[in-house]
Amino acid sequence: MDLPGGSAPSGVDTSVPTPRSADGMEAGARHMSADEFRHWGHLAVDWIAAYWEGLPDRPVTPPVTPGQIADRLPPQAPATGEEFESLLEDFDRLIVPGLAHWQHPGFLGFFPMTTSGPAVLAQMLTAGLNTQGMTWATSPAATELEQRVMDWLADLMGLPDRFGGGGVIQDTASSAMVVALAAALWRRAGDRWRDHGSGSRYTVYTSTEANCSALKAARLCGLGDLQLRHLDVDPHTRALRPDGLRRAIEADLSAGLVPVAVIATIGTTSTTAIDPLPAIGDICRDHDLWLHVDGAYAGVAAICREMRWINSGLEHADSYSVNTHKWLLTGFECSPMWFADPTVVTQALNTAPSYLRDVTDDARKAPDYRDWQVPLGHPFRALKLWFTLRWYGAEGLRAHLRQGIEHARLFAEMVRGDERFEVAAPHPFGLVCFRLRADDAANALLLRRLNATGDLFLSSTEVAGRFTLRLAAGGTATTEDHIRHAWDRIRTEATDLGQGG
Ligand code: PLP
Repeated sequence: MDLPGGSAPSGVDTSVPTPRSADGMEAGARHMSADEFRHWGHLAVDWIAAYWEGLPDRPVTPPVTPGQIADRLPPQAPATGEEFESLLEDFDRLIVPGLAHWQHPGFLGFFPMTTSGPAVLAQMLTAGLNTQGMTWATSPAATELEQRVMDWLADLMGLPDRFGGGGVIQDTASSAMVVALAAALWRRAGDRWRDHGSGSRYTVYTSTEANCSALKAARLCGLGDLQLRHLDVDPHTRALRPDGLRRAIEADLSAGLVPVAVIATIGTTSTTAIDPLPAIGDICRDHDLWLHVDGAYAGVAAICREMRWINSGLEHADSYSVNTHKWLLTGFECSPMWFADPTVVTQALNTAPSYLRDVTDDARKAPDYRDWQVPLGHPFRALKLWFTLRWYGAEGLRAHLRQGIEHARLFAEMVRGDERFEVAAPHPFGLVCFRLRADDAANALLLRRLNATGDLFLSSTEVAGRFTLRLAAGGTATTEDHIRHAWDRIRTEATDLGQGG
């Protein structure tokens, strides 16, 4: 084979491989034909439907040990293509039994990561299109649909007008955090924020309860760990204390440092605490700091009018992000983010390579989403958000969110009714933090035993330094019966552990 520009380095095999085809004889790769795709596609959809129906009969988490799955897989990829039937069979036989089933109605750990029929079907369609909108011109309808559904969602959530037209769908809340911080640093220092000279003087403020992605974002933006100030929270609400924030900013200013941004949270990961945005916003305004609000899990609750109060103070935010892949049924991953002034982020991240000039809109009449995010390529996530919003409608989404909140209320009531247990933090959303009135070891043992049953899955955190169990309602398939069953399990295991009863 002739290579452009000369011969291959010695030792490289340049012979054309023997072609394989449907009958093993023709030239070229054997792509799946439309008829084959139709056949296997129908079977794959049947598989998913049966999987969802059969989830209650599976253990929520797999009884496997590290390496057990990998040991059953061949050490090398096959030299020649295989039949799709054996791929599906091995998926079913080797992989699925080794998965944690996040869509199981008894999966009550972390936060729910919900999906739904319309979201999965939209994902299938986007996979078939496999288009991407890094600039408007590379997929005009994808960009314009994204703009429109982001405005729809802002309206459904009752967000301040300043976010209108400023929406983009990121992959995760972590990416949103990186982008927000890059924009904040750019607004404060322009190009100079990367020019550290004798060391970076920029500081960012958040609470000890902020998600760990804040630290990752600070690191990725070139800040040292200590330049992200983790400030104390109120011991009861677990929320950032504005007086502490003001003091920290003023101390840093006196020391010649440059405060840049505050990262506040609506619904912290550990306990769903809500930082006091109105007071934090005032402080940001006084010191011209960027305010990024992370509403990853809980922000979408504002779709319910009775939960709109959580938006209070968002009118001060420069950027706001939520995950619809947690509670809002769109499947992983889908992280809507809004900017009050998107031009800051596009200036911070624009790179204008020559090879994209002819597909870039210099007049900026339409967004080129490559400048709003970390990757260059921009997936067509808007379709699954569009399908989900249209399939459920505002009332359907509210019904789902309200059910999660009601399940949490019911569960907390049952916990409070048993004097062996206590509720460890306020629970405005679908998460309840609770524990045995016993030492950490007893609580950790209770969690281990519960999760080993395969019946349910809970997670844990630390509240005020103490091991605490977390039950997160809100799964697509979780009903009141599952919550009551979980509580029965918890009480029984506690009794078996010798904790009264
Ligand atoms: N922020 C909060 C409040 C979270 O609860 C989480 C995850 O649970 C994240 C950020 C990180 O989310 P992601 O996985 O989308 O980066």
